[in-house]
Amino acid sequence: MYQVVTMGRKIMGRLAKGDDLLAAFAKICEENGIQLGELQAIGAVTQARVGYYDQFARKYMFLSFPEPQEILSLVGNISIKDNQPFVHAHLTLADQEGRAVGGHLAEGTLVFACEFWIQEYTSGKSLVRHHDEETGLFLWPKD
Ligand code: ZN
Repeated sequence: MYQVVTMGRKIMGRLAKGDDLLAAFAKICEENGIQLGELQAIGAVTQARVGYYDQFARKYMFLSFPEPQEILSLVGNISIKDNQPFVHAHLTLADQEGRAVGGHLAEGTLVFACEFWIQEYTSGKSLVRHHDEETGLFLWPKD
């Protein structure tokens, strides 16, 4: 399944120190009615929490990193889950020695500083996440 989308609005800004990264992006999408789009950010966090999906147990395991780190890259998309804009993002972080860790962005990742840009897409078809039997994940429709 795929579709051709067209560019909508672009939102660019910074988050406040102490914001929960995932909750802050969800709020911006809700406030602006963004139902489909992409998200990128760079900056730094005071602590991080990321998920790793265990494909055999079919559940997320969560890793916590209590120390300050750089956000080398945060890439995500915006679609619909439970009738609301849903942000799915992955991030790569680096510690003071430049060593990288990362994963699926989870609540509990707190902003030190963060610059972001969101690209809205406008399209005839919204992407709604449904439970997928094959993976156990909430994915977009197959077709
Ligand atoms: Zn993910």
